[in-house]
Amino acid sequence: MNYEPVIGLEIHAELKTKSKMFCACKNDPDERDPNVNICPVCTGQPGTLPAINEAAVNHVVRVGLALGSEIGRLTKWDRKNYFYPDLPKGYQISQFDKPICLGGELALLDSGRKIKIRRVHLEEDTGRLAHFGHIGHSLIDLNRAGMPLMELVTEPDLKSGEEASGFAKELRLILKYLGVSDAEMEHGQMRVEANLSLKKPDGGLGVKVEVKNLNSFKTVRDAIDFEIGRQTKILDEGKKVVQETRGWNESKGETVSQRIKEESHDYRYFPEPDLPPLEIDSVLVEKFKADLPELPADKRKRFKTEYGLAVAQADILAADAKLADFFEEAVSESEDAMEDVGAAPSKKEKSALATLAANYVLGDFLSLLNEASASADDTRITAENFGELMALVHQNQITSTAAKEILKEMWATGENPSRIVEEKNLSKIDDAGIIEKVIEKVITANQKAVEDYKNGKEASLQFLVGVAMKELKGAAEAKTVADALKKFLK
Ligand code: ADP
Ligand code: ZN
Ligand code: MG
Repeated sequence: MNYEPVIGLEIHAELKTKSKMFCACKNDPDERDPNVNICPVCTGQPGTLPAINEAAVNHVVRVGLALGSEIGRLTKWDRKNYFYPDLPKGYQISQFDKPICLGGELALLDSGRKIKIRRVHLEEDTGRLAHFGHIGHSLIDLNRAGMPLMELVTEPDLKSGEEASGFAKELRLILKYLGVSDAEMEHGQMRVEANLSLKKPDGGLGVKVEVKNLNSFKTVRDAIDFEIGRQTKILDEGKKVVQETRGWNESKGETVSQRIKEESHDYRYFPEPDLPPLEIDSVLVEKFKADLPELPADKRKRFKTEYGLAVAQADILAADAKLADFFEEAVSESEDAMEDVGAAPSKKEKSALATLAANYVLGDFLSLLNEASASADDTRITAENFGELMALVHQNQITSTAAKEILKEMWATGENPSRIVEEKNLSKIDDAGIIEKVIEKVITANQKAVEDYKNGKEASLQFLVGVAMKELKGAAEAKTVADALKKFLK
């Protein structure tokens, strides 16, 4: 039978703040030594009192504004009670019935389909357990206990593993744009749980299974696709899906039963008696709204309309805010560079400069960044120098071969491109006399290839062009050289 998958996500993200959610301990996800960022509050000592971290609340308000949520005027805290060794208080301070954000939506990049958001709330993270099976002990590190954690819950609007992974990717990007979380899944800064059921063609909702521990975008997709297959088989055999929590076994590539799912009432939620409800200042909310940065979807759209970029180029640039900023600065600097030499670019030329810059940023520059694992704002190449290089290419003063060499030199030294052109004598050679002289030399030295070409071997011409280009240090256009060679050998 054909069932329709019904998928909802619960996504946790560690927030970037100076201190933890309810105490003054440092919020440092990179701390390697265990149990150094701890205090009586986050280790759950009796008699201590929590205090609310304002920055964390503001982060979640801004996330809600970016997603078009309604920001609750009054929000409150609740205790979620359960026992586990990584939870020193025996309860987690979370939000039950008055989350900071209600509703909202996120548009998927691929289809533009809007996925409804149910809520976004704030809670505290747990500690970390390290299991040492061979000595029969587990050790606890409470550095993470009490770090601010955002939880976003979607409506069950998603339909496939691919869509769910796409949702998580887009959310991650939004969180990064807002600067509220690094949201690196491989570092556990963003964790995804998927709820999945199958709907019969006649419309009845099925039993839902929750899959936990999804720690990469690929795992989100694979685990959901596996689960769709598993549940389909169960239903086809006329059996019933068990409502439960399952985990993902990476090496087997399958989900495995972990426990029967607890219900909300198992947690005995009740209002946190040690914290007052929080009134969210609507003036502040309006200010946050006005100050939101441009979001990824808007940036993609603008890059297409404003610079005439291809869809794929706009998508890749928007996926990296620093690279996108670098690109925009470089374009503007390339225009300035042309104005400086009295060649103010026309509208058409501006668009050509932008395309050129996109090609170089996403080609050679991105390769250099990737090789060095560097980000665009952290290299010797300034946007100004990059823009100047684009202007040189656009004005035909250097060849693309020379441009690549110059870029490598800029990467290594931070030198400006005009200087490099001068020092290395890379100005484009258009002088027919110089090119002819080189060709004569090449022909004399490569008689065999010349013979072969005359006997109809086209590849020999390419060889001769290559030798001549080397001689010219790449400073002439390969096509010009090829044309001159052909004329010579007629
Ligand atoms: P619970 O109380 O069991 O945690 P919720 O109603 O709070 O369940 O929903 C948790 C998540 O499960 C949400 O992301 C929601 O979209 C999703 N969900 C709810 N019902 C279904 C369903 N029938 N199939 C798949 N996912 C569902
Ligand atoms: Zn603390
Ligand atoms: Mg839940």
